[in-house]
Amino acid sequence: MSSESNMVHSPMVTYASMLSLLTLCPPFVILLWYTMVHADGSVLQTTNYLREHGLQGFINIWPKPTATAWKIIACYAAFEAALQLWLPGKRVEGPISPAGNRPIYKANGLAAYAVTLITYLGLWWFGIFNPTIVYDHLGEIFSALIFGSFIFCIFLYIKGLVAPSSTDSGSSGNIIIDFYWGMELYPRIGKNFDIKVFTNCRFGMMSWAVLAVTYCIKQYETYGRVSDSMLVNTILMLVYVTKFFWWEAGYWNTMDIAHDRAGFYICWGCMVWVPSVYTSPGMYLVNHPVNLGVQLALYILVAGILCIYINYDCDRQRQEFRRTNGKALVWGKAPSKIHASYTTTSGETKSSLLLTSGWWGLSRHFHYVPEISAAFFWTLPALFNHFLPYFYVVFLTILLFDRAKRDDDRCRSKYGKYWKLYCEKVPYRIIPGIY
Ligand code: NDP
Repeated sequence: MSSESNMVHSPMVTYASMLSLLTLCPPFVILLWYTMVHADGSVLQTTNYLREHGLQGFINIWPKPTATAWKIIACYAAFEAALQLWLPGKRVEGPISPAGNRPIYKANGLAAYAVTLITYLGLWWFGIFNPTIVYDHLGEIFSALIFGSFIFCIFLYIKGLVAPSSTDSGSSGNIIIDFYWGMELYPRIGKNFDIKVFTNCRFGMMSWAVLAVTYCIKQYETYGRVSDSMLVNTILMLVYVTKFFWWEAGYWNTMDIAHDRAGFYICWGCMVWVPSVYTSPGMYLVNHPVNLGVQLALYILVAGILCIYINYDCDRQRQEFRRTNGKALVWGKAPSKIHASYTTTSGETKSSLLLTSGWWGLSRHFHYVPEISAAFFWTLPALFNHFLPYFYVVFLTILLFDRAKRDDDRCRSKYGKYWKLYCEKVPYRIIPGIY
Protein backbone atom coordinates (compact mmCIF):
# COMPACT_ATOMS: atom_id res chain seq x y z
CA MET A 1 0.00 0.00 0.00
CA SER A 2 1.17 3.52 -0.60
CA SER A 3 2.52 5.55 2.29
CA GLU A 4 -0.67 7.61 2.12
CA SER A 5 -2.67 4.94 3.85
CA ASN A 6 -0.04 4.30 6.46
CA MET A 7 -0.52 7.82 7.70
CA VAL A 8 -4.10 7.55 8.75
CA HIS A 9 -4.97 5.95 12.07
CA SER A 10 -3.83 2.47 13.10
CA PRO A 11 -5.97 -0.57 12.11
CA MET A 12 -7.32 -0.76 15.69
CA VAL A 13 -8.59 2.85 15.55
CA THR A 14 -9.89 2.24 12.03
CA TYR A 15 -11.92 -0.79 13.19
CA ALA A 16 -13.27 1.10 16.21
CA SER A 17 -14.15 4.23 14.24
CA MET A 18 -15.63 2.26 11.36
CA LEU A 19 -17.74 0.15 13.71
CA SER A 20 -18.98 3.23 15.54
CA LEU A 21 -19.61 5.14 12.30
CA LEU A 22 -21.59 2.24 10.90
CA THR A 23 -23.57 1.50 14.02
CA LEU A 24 -23.93 4.88 15.72
CA CYS A 25 -24.02 7.51 12.99
CA PRO A 26 -27.08 6.32 10.99
CA PRO A 27 -29.34 6.10 14.09
CA PHE A 28 -27.86 9.38 15.29
CA VAL A 29 -28.82 11.13 12.03
CA ILE A 30 -32.39 9.87 12.39
CA LEU A 31 -32.60 10.80 16.09
CA LEU A 32 -31.16 14.25 15.36
CA TRP A 33 -33.77 14.85 12.66
CA TYR A 34 -36.57 13.47 14.88
CA THR A 35 -35.54 15.63 17.84
CA MET A 36 -35.21 18.80 15.79
CA VAL A 37 -38.41 18.35 13.80
CA HIS A 38 -40.73 16.42 16.14
CA ALA A 39 -39.39 16.84 19.69
CA ASP A 40 -38.86 20.59 19.91
CA GLY A 41 -35.06 20.15 19.79
CA SER A 42 -35.18 18.59 23.26
CA VAL A 43 -32.84 15.64 23.86
CA LEU A 44 -34.76 15.01 27.09
CA GLN A 45 -38.05 14.64 25.25
CA THR A 46 -36.53 12.14 22.79
CA THR A 47 -34.83 10.23 25.63
CA ASN A 48 -38.12 9.98 27.53
CA TYR A 49 -39.87 8.75 24.39
CA LEU A 50 -37.21 6.08 23.84
CA ARG A 51 -37.35 5.04 27.53
CA GLU A 52 -41.08 4.63 27.29
CA HIS A 53 -41.26 2.88 23.91
CA GLY A 54 -37.91 1.09 23.75
CA LEU A 55 -36.42 -0.32 20.58
CA GLN A 56 -39.81 -0.65 18.90
CA GLY A 57 -40.39 3.07 19.49
CA PHE A 58 -37.09 3.82 17.79
CA ILE A 59 -37.98 1.57 14.83
CA ASN A 60 -41.32 3.38 14.58
CA ILE A 61 -39.71 6.81 14.24
CA TRP A 62 -37.15 5.65 11.62
CA PRO A 63 -38.77 6.76 8.34
CA LYS A 64 -38.66 4.32 5.42
CA PRO A 65 -37.01 5.71 2.28
CA THR A 66 -40.08 6.51 0.17
CA ALA A 67 -40.40 6.91 -3.60
CA THR A 68 -40.71 10.70 -3.10
CA ALA A 69 -37.43 10.76 -1.19
CA TRP A 70 -35.61 8.72 -3.85
CA LYS A 71 -37.05 10.96 -6.59
CA ILE A 72 -35.89 14.15 -4.85
CA ILE A 73 -32.38 12.72 -4.33
CA ALA A 74 -32.18 11.37 -7.90
CA CYS A 75 -33.29 14.68 -9.48
CA TYR A 76 -30.88 16.65 -7.31
CA ALA A 77 -27.94 14.30 -7.96
CA ALA A 78 -28.61 14.17 -11.72
CA PHE A 79 -28.94 17.97 -11.89
CA GLU A 80 -25.66 18.49 -10.02
CA ALA A 81 -23.84 15.86 -12.11
CA ALA A 82 -25.05 17.54 -15.31
CA LEU A 83 -23.87 20.97 -14.10
CA GLN A 84 -20.49 19.51 -13.12
CA LEU A 85 -20.04 17.95 -16.54
CA TRP A 86 -21.44 20.62 -18.83
CA LEU A 87 -21.10 24.07 -17.28
CA PRO A 88 -18.05 25.86 -18.66
CA GLY A 89 -15.09 26.50 -16.38
CA LYS A 90 -11.39 27.24 -16.37
CA ARG A 91 -8.98 24.32 -16.64
CA VAL A 92 -7.28 23.90 -13.25
CA GLU A 93 -4.40 21.62 -12.30
CA GLY A 94 -4.49 19.90 -8.91
CA PRO A 95 -1.37 19.24 -6.82
CA ILE A 96 1.02 16.44 -7.81
CA SER A 97 -0.19 13.22 -6.21
CA PRO A 98 2.02 10.79 -4.23
CA ALA A 99 2.29 8.61 -7.37
CA GLY A 100 3.32 11.64 -9.45
CA ASN A 101 0.01 12.29 -11.25
CA ARG A 102 -1.50 15.73 -11.67
CA PRO A 103 -5.31 15.73 -11.78
CA ILE A 104 -7.00 18.21 -14.13
CA TYR A 105 -10.31 19.82 -13.14
CA LYS A 106 -12.89 22.13 -14.64
CA ALA A 107 -13.46 24.97 -12.17
CA ASN A 108 -17.19 25.53 -12.59
CA GLY A 109 -18.24 25.25 -8.92
CA LEU A 110 -19.33 28.85 -8.42
CA ALA A 111 -21.41 28.74 -11.61
CA ALA A 112 -23.00 25.44 -10.50
CA TYR A 113 -23.74 26.97 -7.11
CA ALA A 114 -25.40 30.04 -8.65
CA VAL A 115 -27.41 27.96 -11.14
CA THR A 116 -28.54 25.60 -8.34
CA LEU A 117 -29.79 28.34 -6.03
CA ILE A 118 -31.41 30.38 -8.81
CA THR A 119 -33.14 27.26 -10.17
CA TYR A 120 -34.33 26.18 -6.71
CA LEU A 121 -35.70 29.63 -5.84
CA GLY A 122 -37.16 29.93 -9.36
CA LEU A 123 -39.00 26.61 -9.00
CA TRP A 124 -40.49 27.87 -5.74
CA TRP A 125 -41.27 31.37 -6.99
CA PHE A 126 -43.09 30.13 -10.09
CA GLY A 127 -44.97 27.48 -8.12
CA ILE A 128 -43.33 24.53 -9.91
CA PHE A 129 -41.77 22.87 -6.87
CA ASN A 130 -42.22 23.88 -3.26
CA PRO A 131 -39.07 23.37 -1.11
CA THR A 132 -41.30 22.67 1.88
CA ILE A 133 -41.81 19.23 0.29
CA VAL A 134 -38.11 18.58 0.95
CA TYR A 135 -38.51 19.61 4.59
CA ASP A 136 -41.67 17.53 4.99
CA HIS A 137 -39.85 14.44 3.65
CA LEU A 138 -36.54 15.18 5.35
CA GLY A 139 -36.55 12.05 7.53
CA GLU A 140 -37.22 9.82 4.52
CA ILE A 141 -34.54 11.64 2.53
CA PHE A 142 -31.94 11.11 5.29
CA SER A 143 -33.00 7.49 5.56
CA ALA A 144 -32.58 6.99 1.80
CA LEU A 145 -29.21 8.78 1.90
CA ILE A 146 -28.00 6.50 4.69
CA PHE A 147 -28.67 3.35 2.64
CA GLY A 148 -27.93 4.82 -0.80
CA SER A 149 -24.54 6.23 0.22
CA PHE A 150 -23.54 2.90 1.76
CA ILE A 151 -24.26 1.17 -1.54
CA PHE A 152 -22.39 3.93 -3.37
CA CYS A 153 -19.33 3.27 -1.17
CA ILE A 154 -19.49 -0.45 -2.10
CA PHE A 155 -19.45 0.68 -5.74
CA LEU A 156 -16.38 2.84 -4.99
CA TYR A 157 -14.63 -0.14 -3.41
CA ILE A 158 -15.38 -2.43 -6.37
CA LYS A 159 -14.37 0.26 -8.85
CA GLY A 160 -11.06 0.76 -7.02
CA LEU A 161 -10.49 -2.98 -7.15
CA VAL A 162 -11.32 -3.70 -10.78
CA ALA A 163 -11.12 -0.40 -12.67
CA PRO A 164 -8.99 2.25 -10.91
CA SER A 165 -8.78 5.56 -12.74
CA SER A 166 -5.11 6.26 -11.99
CA THR A 167 -2.01 4.79 -10.36
CA ASP A 168 -2.99 6.63 -7.14
CA SER A 169 -4.88 3.61 -5.92
CA GLY A 170 -4.22 0.30 -4.33
CA SER A 171 -5.17 -2.14 -1.65
CA SER A 172 -3.87 -2.42 1.89
CA GLY A 173 -4.59 -6.13 1.73
CA ASN A 174 -7.35 -5.57 4.28
CA ILE A 175 -10.85 -5.31 2.84
CA ILE A 176 -12.26 -3.39 5.81
CA ILE A 177 -9.54 -0.74 5.73
CA ASP A 178 -9.88 -0.49 1.94
CA PHE A 179 -13.63 0.03 2.17
CA TYR A 180 -13.34 2.51 5.02
CA TRP A 181 -10.40 4.68 3.90
CA GLY A 182 -10.92 4.08 0.18
CA MET A 183 -8.99 2.51 -2.68
CA GLU A 184 -8.57 5.45 -5.03
CA LEU A 185 -7.32 8.98 -4.51
CA TYR A 186 -8.81 10.34 -7.74
CA PRO A 187 -11.65 8.07 -8.92
CA ARG A 188 -13.33 9.23 -12.12
CA ILE A 189 -16.11 8.06 -14.39
CA GLY A 190 -14.74 8.43 -17.87
CA LYS A 191 -12.00 11.01 -18.21
CA ASN A 192 -13.81 14.05 -16.87
CA PHE A 193 -16.32 13.17 -14.17
CA ASP A 194 -14.44 13.41 -10.89
CA ILE A 195 -16.28 11.42 -8.22
CA LYS A 196 -14.79 13.23 -5.22
CA VAL A 197 -15.65 16.65 -6.65
CA PHE A 198 -19.19 15.31 -7.00
CA THR A 199 -19.57 13.70 -3.54
CA ASN A 200 -17.72 16.36 -1.52
CA CYS A 201 -18.58 19.55 -3.37
CA ARG A 202 -21.51 19.26 -5.71
CA PHE A 203 -23.59 16.83 -3.64
CA GLY A 204 -22.44 17.46 -0.06
CA MET A 205 -21.56 21.15 0.18
CA MET A 206 -24.27 22.11 -2.30
CA SER A 207 -26.90 20.31 -0.21
CA TRP A 208 -25.89 22.49 2.74
CA ALA A 209 -26.89 25.67 0.86
CA VAL A 210 -30.01 24.07 -0.63
CA LEU A 211 -31.20 22.89 2.79
CA ALA A 212 -30.38 26.22 4.48
CA VAL A 213 -32.68 27.90 1.93
CA THR A 214 -35.27 25.14 2.40
CA TYR A 215 -35.43 25.74 6.18
CA CYS A 216 -35.84 29.45 5.63
CA ILE A 217 -38.70 28.94 3.15
CA LYS A 218 -40.37 26.40 5.44
CA GLN A 219 -40.39 28.89 8.30
CA TYR A 220 -41.75 31.56 5.98
CA GLU A 221 -44.55 29.30 4.74
CA THR A 222 -45.42 28.13 8.26
CA TYR A 223 -45.38 31.46 10.11
CA GLY A 224 -45.85 33.92 7.25
CA ARG A 225 -42.50 35.56 8.01
CA VAL A 226 -38.84 34.77 8.55
CA SER A 227 -37.47 35.53 12.03
CA ASP A 228 -34.23 37.50 12.37
CA SER A 229 -32.58 34.48 14.02
CA MET A 230 -33.34 32.34 10.96
CA LEU A 231 -32.13 35.12 8.67
CA VAL A 232 -28.78 35.42 10.49
CA ASN A 233 -28.34 31.64 10.45
CA THR A 234 -29.19 31.30 6.77
CA ILE A 235 -27.09 34.27 5.66
CA LEU A 236 -24.02 33.03 7.57
CA MET A 237 -24.36 29.50 6.24
CA LEU A 238 -24.81 30.84 2.70
CA VAL A 239 -21.81 33.16 3.05
CA TYR A 240 -19.79 30.16 4.23
CA VAL A 241 -20.90 27.92 1.34
CA THR A 242 -20.47 30.78 -1.18
CA LYS A 243 -16.93 31.20 0.13
CA PHE A 244 -16.44 27.49 -0.33
CA PHE A 245 -17.50 27.52 -3.98
CA TRP A 246 -15.63 30.76 -4.65
CA TRP A 247 -12.50 28.92 -3.46
CA GLU A 248 -13.45 25.43 -4.65
CA ALA A 249 -10.33 25.03 -6.82
CA GLY A 250 -8.31 25.75 -3.66
CA TYR A 251 -10.23 23.03 -1.84
CA TRP A 252 -8.87 20.58 -4.42
CA ASN A 253 -5.44 21.18 -2.86
CA THR A 254 -6.55 20.29 0.66
CA MET A 255 -6.33 17.05 2.63
CA ASP A 256 -9.86 15.90 1.71
CA ILE A 257 -9.01 15.77 -1.97
CA ALA A 258 -5.23 15.53 -2.21
CA HIS A 259 -4.61 13.07 0.64
CA ASP A 260 -7.80 11.25 1.74
CA ARG A 261 -8.91 8.49 -0.59
CA ALA A 262 -12.50 8.08 -1.74
CA GLY A 263 -13.90 5.66 0.80
CA PHE A 264 -16.66 5.33 3.33
CA TYR A 265 -15.06 7.82 5.75
CA ILE A 266 -15.09 10.78 3.43
CA CYS A 267 -17.87 9.97 0.93
CA TRP A 268 -20.48 8.80 3.43
CA GLY A 269 -19.57 11.81 5.54
CA CYS A 270 -20.12 14.23 2.66
CA MET A 271 -23.31 12.61 1.39
CA VAL A 272 -25.08 11.94 4.72
CA TRP A 273 -23.40 13.80 7.56
CA VAL A 274 -23.10 17.17 5.77
CA PRO A 275 -26.79 17.45 4.74
CA SER A 276 -28.00 16.29 8.15
CA VAL A 277 -25.59 17.36 10.89
CA TYR A 278 -24.00 20.43 9.24
CA THR A 279 -27.38 21.96 8.47
CA SER A 280 -28.91 21.03 11.84
CA PRO A 281 -28.86 24.49 13.51
CA GLY A 282 -31.14 25.72 10.68
CA MET A 283 -33.32 22.61 11.01
CA TYR A 284 -33.85 23.53 14.67
CA LEU A 285 -34.69 27.15 13.94
CA VAL A 286 -37.58 26.27 11.57
CA ASN A 287 -39.86 25.60 14.55
CA HIS A 288 -38.15 28.10 16.87
CA PRO A 289 -38.54 31.55 15.32
CA VAL A 290 -36.52 33.33 18.03
CA ASN A 291 -36.54 37.11 17.79
CA LEU A 292 -33.09 38.53 18.50
CA GLY A 293 -33.71 42.20 17.78
CA VAL A 294 -31.82 44.15 15.14
CA GLN A 295 -28.79 45.01 17.27
CA LEU A 296 -27.98 41.50 18.51
CA ALA A 297 -28.74 40.01 15.09
CA LEU A 298 -26.29 42.43 13.48
CA TYR A 299 -23.55 41.75 16.06
CA ILE A 300 -23.82 38.00 15.46
CA LEU A 301 -23.91 38.49 11.70
CA VAL A 302 -20.81 40.70 11.64
CA ALA A 303 -18.87 38.40 14.01
CA GLY A 304 -19.78 35.38 11.89
CA ILE A 305 -18.81 37.05 8.61
CA LEU A 306 -15.49 38.16 10.15
CA CYS A 307 -14.70 34.56 11.17
CA ILE A 308 -15.58 33.25 7.72
CA TYR A 309 -13.38 35.93 6.17
CA ILE A 310 -10.39 35.08 8.42
CA ASN A 311 -10.81 31.37 7.66
CA TYR A 312 -10.85 32.18 3.96
CA ASP A 313 -7.82 34.46 4.29
CA CYS A 314 -5.78 31.72 6.04
CA ASP A 315 -6.43 29.31 3.16
CA ARG A 316 -5.81 32.05 0.59
CA GLN A 317 -2.55 33.09 2.23
CA ARG A 318 -1.14 29.55 2.18
CA GLN A 319 -2.17 28.93 -1.40
CA GLU A 320 -0.97 32.31 -2.67
CA PHE A 321 2.35 31.69 -0.92
CA ARG A 322 2.74 28.31 -2.61
CA ARG A 323 1.47 29.54 -6.00
CA THR A 324 3.98 32.39 -6.15
CA ASN A 325 6.78 30.18 -4.85
CA GLY A 326 7.04 32.18 -1.64
CA LYS A 327 7.16 35.58 -3.35
CA ALA A 328 3.74 36.99 -2.38
CA LEU A 329 3.80 39.43 0.51
CA VAL A 330 2.28 38.16 3.75
CA TRP A 331 0.66 40.84 5.88
CA GLY A 332 2.61 43.42 3.88
CA LYS A 333 6.03 41.82 4.44
CA ALA A 334 8.22 39.26 2.70
CA PRO A 335 7.15 35.91 4.16
CA SER A 336 9.32 33.93 6.52
CA LYS A 337 9.62 30.36 5.26
CA ILE A 338 11.29 26.98 5.42
CA HIS A 339 12.63 25.29 2.27
CA ALA A 340 11.66 21.67 2.84
CA SER A 341 12.43 18.61 0.76
CA TYR A 342 10.78 15.20 0.75
CA THR A 343 10.83 11.92 -1.12
CA THR A 344 7.81 10.70 -3.11
CA THR A 345 6.63 7.08 -3.08
CA SER A 346 8.50 6.55 -6.35
CA GLY A 347 11.76 7.67 -4.70
CA GLU A 348 11.99 11.09 -6.35
CA THR A 349 13.20 14.03 -4.25
CA LYS A 350 10.98 17.12 -4.40
CA SER A 351 10.99 20.45 -2.63
CA SER A 352 8.24 22.42 -0.98
CA LEU A 353 7.84 25.64 0.97
CA LEU A 354 6.41 26.00 4.46
CA LEU A 355 5.13 29.43 5.45
CA THR A 356 6.09 30.44 8.99
CA SER A 357 4.63 33.95 9.17
CA GLY A 358 1.16 35.48 8.80
CA TRP A 359 -1.69 33.25 9.98
CA TRP A 360 0.61 30.23 9.59
CA GLY A 361 3.07 31.73 12.08
CA LEU A 362 0.41 32.04 14.82
CA SER A 363 -0.11 28.28 15.04
CA ARG A 364 0.22 25.36 12.63
CA HIS A 365 -3.53 25.04 12.10
CA PHE A 366 -4.81 28.45 13.07
CA HIS A 367 -7.43 28.34 10.29
CA TYR A 368 -9.48 25.93 12.42
CA VAL A 369 -10.09 28.63 15.07
CA PRO A 370 -12.21 30.90 12.79
CA GLU A 371 -13.82 27.78 11.25
CA ILE A 372 -15.12 26.65 14.65
CA SER A 373 -16.00 30.21 15.72
CA ALA A 374 -18.05 30.78 12.54
CA ALA A 375 -20.06 27.63 13.27
CA PHE A 376 -20.65 28.92 16.80
CA PHE A 377 -21.94 32.25 15.46
CA TRP A 378 -24.44 30.71 13.03
CA THR A 379 -25.73 28.53 15.87
CA LEU A 380 -25.94 31.37 18.40
CA PRO A 381 -29.30 32.64 17.00
CA ALA A 382 -30.80 29.45 18.49
CA LEU A 383 -29.82 30.87 21.91
CA PHE A 384 -29.35 28.43 24.78
CA ASN A 385 -32.67 26.71 25.42
CA HIS A 386 -31.36 23.42 24.06
CA PHE A 387 -27.97 21.83 23.61
CA LEU A 388 -28.67 19.96 20.36
CA PRO A 389 -28.26 22.89 17.92
CA TYR A 390 -24.68 23.14 19.26
CA PHE A 391 -23.92 19.54 18.41
CA TYR A 392 -22.32 20.56 15.10
CA VAL A 393 -19.94 22.99 16.85
CA VAL A 394 -18.86 20.28 19.30
CA PHE A 395 -18.50 17.70 16.54
CA LEU A 396 -16.50 20.13 14.38
CA THR A 397 -14.15 20.92 17.27
CA ILE A 398 -13.43 17.20 17.79
CA LEU A 399 -13.09 16.62 14.03
CA LEU A 400 -10.65 19.47 13.51
CA PHE A 401 -8.53 18.70 16.58
CA ASP A 402 -8.23 15.12 15.29
CA ARG A 403 -7.54 16.39 11.78
CA ALA A 404 -4.78 18.71 13.03
CA LYS A 405 -3.10 15.73 14.67
CA ARG A 406 -3.51 13.58 11.56
CA ASP A 407 -2.11 16.35 9.39
CA ASP A 408 0.84 16.95 11.76
CA ASP A 409 1.66 13.22 11.74
CA ARG A 410 1.45 13.11 7.94
CA CYS A 411 3.60 16.23 7.51
CA ARG A 412 6.14 14.96 10.06
CA SER A 413 6.63 11.75 8.12
CA LYS A 414 6.69 13.65 4.81
CA TYR A 415 9.08 16.47 5.77
CA GLY A 416 11.03 14.93 8.71
CA LYS A 417 13.58 17.42 10.10
CA TYR A 418 11.97 20.33 8.21
CA TRP A 419 8.67 19.77 9.98
CA LYS A 420 10.55 19.58 13.29
CA LEU A 421 12.04 22.97 12.46
CA TYR A 422 8.56 24.34 11.69
CA CYS A 423 7.30 23.01 15.04
CA GLU A 424 10.19 24.75 16.81
CA LYS A 425 9.41 28.04 15.05
CA VAL A 426 5.63 27.68 15.45
CA PRO A 427 5.15 25.55 18.57
CA TYR A 428 1.36 25.66 18.92
CA ARG A 429 -0.84 23.28 16.97
CA ILE A 430 -4.15 25.20 16.89
CA ILE A 431 -4.72 27.83 19.59
CA PRO A 432 -1.77 30.25 19.91
CA GLY A 433 -0.30 30.19 23.41
CA ILE A 434 -2.57 27.36 24.60
CA TYR A 435 -2.50 24.25 22.41
P1 NDP B 1 -5.17 22.16 4.31
O1 NDP B 1 -5.04 20.86 3.57
O2 NDP B 1 -5.66 23.33 3.55
O3 NDP B 1 -3.80 22.52 4.97
C1 NDP B 1 -2.94 21.53 5.45
C2 NDP B 1 -1.85 21.20 4.41
O4 NDP B 1 -1.17 22.40 4.07
C3 NDP B 1 -0.80 20.27 4.96
O5 NDP B 1 -1.17 18.93 4.77
C4 NDP B 1 0.41 20.65 4.13
O6 NDP B 1 0.29 20.02 2.85
C5 NDP B 1 0.23 22.13 3.92
N1 NDP B 1 0.85 22.96 4.95
C6 NDP B 1 0.86 22.77 6.28
N2 NDP B 1 1.51 23.76 6.91
C7 NDP B 1 1.90 24.61 5.93
C8 NDP B 1 2.63 25.82 5.93
N3 NDP B 1 3.07 26.36 7.06
N4 NDP B 1 2.87 26.43 4.76
C9 NDP B 1 2.44 25.91 3.60
N5 NDP B 1 1.75 24.75 3.52
C10 NDP B 1 1.49 24.11 4.70
O7 NDP B 1 -6.06 21.94 5.59
P2 NDP B 1 -7.55 21.42 5.68
O8 NDP B 1 -7.92 20.59 4.49
O9 NDP B 1 -7.69 20.80 7.00
O10 NDP B 1 -8.43 22.75 5.65
C11 NDP B 1 -8.84 23.42 4.48
C12 NDP B 1 -10.08 24.25 4.78
O11 NDP B 1 -11.22 23.42 4.98
C13 NDP B 1 -9.96 25.09 6.04
O12 NDP B 1 -10.61 26.31 5.83
C14 NDP B 1 -10.70 24.29 7.07
O13 NDP B 1 -11.17 25.11 8.10
C15 NDP B 1 -11.81 23.70 6.22
N6 NDP B 1 -12.34 22.44 6.76
C16 NDP B 1 -13.65 22.36 7.12
C17 NDP B 1 -14.18 21.21 7.62
C18 NDP B 1 -15.61 21.11 8.01
O14 NDP B 1 -16.09 20.01 8.21
N7 NDP B 1 -16.33 22.21 8.13
C19 NDP B 1 -13.35 20.00 7.75
C20 NDP B 1 -12.00 20.20 7.35
C21 NDP B 1 -11.51 21.37 6.87
P3 NDP B 1 1.54 19.71 1.87
O15 NDP B 1 1.65 18.22 1.84
O16 NDP B 1 1.10 20.28 0.56
O17 NDP B 1 2.75 20.37 2.42
